[in-house]
Amino acid sequence: MGQRPHVYRTAPPEMWSKAINREHRHIVLTGGEPFLYKGLPDLVNGVTAELKIRIYSNFCLDLQDALSAIKRPVHFYISWHPQKRADRKRFLANVQKMYANPLFTADIHAIDAEETRATLDDDLAFFSSQGLHLDKDADQRTFDGSCQPALHTAVCAKTIYLIGPDGTRYQCVSRMMRNDHPLENMLEGPLKTPEAVSVCPDFGNCAPCDILGETQMAIF
Ligand code: SF4
Repeated sequence: MGQRPHVYRTAPPEMWSKAINREHRHIVLTGGEPFLYKGLPDLVNGVTAELKIRIYSNFCLDLQDALSAIKRPVHFYISWHPQKRADRKRFLANVQKMYANPLFTADIHAIDAEETRATLDDDLAFFSSQGLHLDKDADQRTFDGSCQPALHTAVCAKTIYLIGPDGTRYQCVSRMMRNDHPLENMLEGPLKTPEAVSVCPDFGNCAPCDILGETQMAIF
């Protein structure tokens, strides 16, 4: 605790696709918002055809040009976030653009969080009237390791590679945000063993999504 959020240097898309092709692993590009990285279409287009790409996005930016620039199959996992007052018509236009491309597939959902409940049903009714049905998923912040006042020590193991925006690997999203215990950097050389194990004193300070991504935690 106590570290400032990390400020990242960004790498060009060709450097990313070269490193991804070297590792030869399927990838998930998530955020924040992956489309904030202007090189995203070039990165995606540079990844070898055998590898699957999944992109998690809020679809809240104007993505018309970026979606046109992607020339290979991608599966999108799209979240509607009403609490950010996202533009419903822009979201819908992005979804329509995405579905118009036969290379793209998607899961689309909305988060059923307490603070969004007042507007969510209205949003879902609007989308439904336009022919778009969104699944409603439970808020994942109910995870015991996230947003807790008291911290505990836990053994924590992750069996996917979690890579930050500058190529550095971390045990979890919480550590990535705090630049705490950085591991190897995939833009500088090959990744090491897929399993990262740590005895961590910060259970309770995990990011909400740290329960995802093939992670196991046991509190002492
Ligand atoms: S216990 Fe939580 S904060 Fe600690 S390494 Fe695991 S996910 Fe990260």
